[in-house]
Amino acid sequence: MRRSIPIFAAIFLFMASALFAALSRPIASYDIKARLVPAEKKILGSEILTWLNDTDLPVSELRFHLYLNAFKNSRTTFMRESGGSSRGFKADKNNWGFITVKNIRIQDGDDLTPSMAFIQPDDGNADDRTVMKIDLPTPLPPGKKIAVAIEFTSKLPKVFARSGFAGDFYMVGQWFPKIGVFQNGAWNCHQYHASSEFFADYGTYHVEITAPEKFVVGATGKRNGETKNADGTRTYVHDQENVHDFAWTACPDFIEFREKYALAEPSVKTEMILLVHRSHVKQKDRYAQALRNGLEFYSRSYGPYPYETITLVDPAPGAMGAGGMEYPTLFTAGTTTWMPKGVRFPEMVTIHEFGHGYWYGMVGSNEFEEAWLDEGINTYSEIKAMAKYYGEDRSMIDIGGLKIGSVAYNRMSVIGSGRFDPIVKKSWEYISGGSYSLNVYAKAGLMLLTLEKWLGEEVMSRLMRTYFERWKFRHPTSKDFIHTAEEVSGKDLGWFFSQVLYSPDKLDYAVSGLKAEEIAAGEGLFDGRATEPPGKEEGGAPAKPAPKVYRNEITVARYGEWIFPQEILVVFDDGEKVRETWDGKDRWTRFVYQKTAKVVSAEVDPDHKMVLDANYANNSRVLELKRPAVVKAALGFTAWVQGFLSLISF
Ligand SMILES: [Zn+2]
Repeated sequence: MRRSIPIFAAIFLFMASALFAALSRPIASYDIKARLVPAEKKILGSEILTWLNDTDLPVSELRFHLYLNAFKNSRTTFMRESGGSSRGFKADKNNWGFITVKNIRIQDGDDLTPSMAFIQPDDGNADDRTVMKIDLPTPLPPGKKIAVAIEFTSKLPKVFARSGFAGDFYMVGQWFPKIGVFQNGAWNCHQYHASSEFFADYGTYHVEITAPEKFVVGATGKRNGETKNADGTRTYVHDQENVHDFAWTACPDFIEFREKYALAEPSVKTEMILLVHRSHVKQKDRYAQALRNGLEFYSRSYGPYPYETITLVDPAPGAMGAGGMEYPTLFTAGTTTWMPKGVRFPEMVTIHEFGHGYWYGMVGSNEFEEAWLDEGINTYSEIKAMAKYYGEDRSMIDIGGLKIGSVAYNRMSVIGSGRFDPIVKKSWEYISGGSYSLNVYAKAGLMLLTLEKWLGEEVMSRLMRTYFERWKFRHPTSKDFIHTAEEVSGKDLGWFFSQVLYSPDKLDYAVSGLKAEEIAAGEGLFDGRATEPPGKEEGGAPAKPAPKVYRNEITVARYGEWIFPQEILVVFDDGEKVRETWDGKDRWTRFVYQKTAKVVSAEVDPDHKMVLDANYANNSRVLELKRPAVVKAALGFTAWVQGFLSLISF
C-alpha cells in the first residue's frame, strides 16, 4: 500500500503540527554534554546555546542564570533570604554547591570570557553570583541568532532545596548556564531567591549524559540513544522540543518501571517512566495510578498531554529536599517508607507536579514575578483532580474516621493567617516564605474555585481551556488571565480580580444577629381603640385568640474589606424559606419581617460559592443553637500530618 504513504505522512505531519499548534519559534535551544563525577559530586559540562533575538531591538549583552551559585556560601541572596533552610531541610555547611564558567565564546568566533561579570539586578548583593552578563562584540540585530559555546563545572550541594545529592542519589536541576528572557526591551533574569522559581524561553534540547554504569538515569525528554563506554560509563542521549528547561537524575537504587499510556478522547499517547527508589517500591502502584489520573484529568480539562514521555522521580530517603518539584516532562514526587493508604500525599504530590507540566511547563508564566499563575492555577487544578479521583470530602486524608478534603486542607492554611501581602507580588518581596506560600498556592487556588462557583462550571471550564490553548508555549501575565476570563464569561470581572489578586485583605461575611420577638399588645393609650387584649365578641361566643405576631430581625455584617454581592437564606418555623440579596457594600444590613412565623435560621452564601470566605463558622446562625457533637480528637495524628506537610511545598 505504498500509494497511501504520502497521504499518511501528510496526515501525520498535520497532526504533529496541530499538537504543537501556536508554538512560537524556538528561542533558546541547547546542545549539552554532561559527565557525572560522583566522587566529587560534580558535573563536567559543555553546551552550545543557540539564541534567537525574537524582539524588535538589537541586543548588546547576554544574561545568564547560574542558579547553583545560590548554594556557594552563606551570603548569597538565596542563603540570606532562606537562612540556609528550605521546607524544613537545612543546608549542609560541608557541602556547598556552585557553578564555574570556564570559558564562553561565540561558536567558532570571539572569546567572550573576559567580559564576564556577575550582576545583582534585584538586590545589589555583591556576594550573589547567580546572574552573569557578557558583552557581545557587536549587537545582535532583531530576528538574528547567535550560538555561544560554554564550558562549565557544576558542583552539587547536599540536597536541601531542589537540586543536589544525598548519598548516591543525584537530582540535577538548574545546573547549567541558562540564558534569561529578553522581554520588553530588557533582560528578565532574576537572581535565585528563596521564595521563587524560574522563567525561561522555549527551545529544543539535545543532551548527552554520561554516568558510571551502575546508575539508573532519567531525564527530560525522550531517550534517543544509549552507549556503553570503555571506561565503565554509559552515555544517554535525550531530546526534547518545546520545553524551557532540562533536568535529570541518577541513582543506582532506582527501580525503573515503564508503561504505555493511551487515552482515546482526547487522543493522548505517552510513556510513563517511574523511577522509584527501592525502599519505596511498594508504593509504585500508588504513584502509577495517580499519574494516570493526572494524565486523564489534565488532558480532558485543558488539552491533550503532547509529549512522548513523562518521568516520575521518587527521591531517595534523605533526599526529600529534592521532592515535589517540577521540570519539563519530568517531576519529583515524594513519600516516606511508612505511608498509610488513606494519607494521599504521594497521590497529591504526583498530580500536582504532573500538573505543572501544564501550568509552568506548557504555559510559561513568570514564576519569579507572578507565581500564582503556576502555583495557584495548579492548586486549583489539583484540588479538582483529587476530588474527582479520591472523593471531595476525603481527597487528602481518609483514615480512622478522619477525613480531610483538599478544599478544607487549603482553607486551613489561609484561615487565621496574617494579611500582609496580596496574591500578586514579586516572590521575594513577601513578608515571609509563609506569606508567599499561602497567597500563591492556597489563596489563589481557593480564589479560582470561588470564581468557578461564581461563573458556573461550564463557563469556568471554557475559560481554562481558552487560557491554556491561547497561552501555551508563551509567557502570559495576570492581565492576560483576567482578559481571558472577562472575554470568555462576557462579564466585567475587574471588581473581583482587583480585590482578590491585588489587595491583601479578606472576604468574610457573617450573620451577626438573629432574633424573633413577639409583638405584645401595646400598653397605654391609643387613639380610637382600646388597648385591652381581645375579649368576647358581641353575641357572646368566645373569640379565637389572635395569632402571635413576631418581629424577626436578621443582621448581616461584612467583617472583611473585600466586597462581594451576597445571598442570604432565611428559614421560618412554618417552613417558609426566603432568599434575599445584598450588594454587600455597607458594613452591615438588616432584614426585618413582621409575621406570625418565627425565624429559625439565617445563612449568608447558602450555596457555598465563596470558597475564599475566611470564616465559615460565622456564616449562619440558628435561633436555638444545638451544638454538633462532632469533636475531633486525633491530635497526635494531626501533628504527624502537619509535620509531613511542612516538608513538602510543591
Ligand atoms: Zn507547585
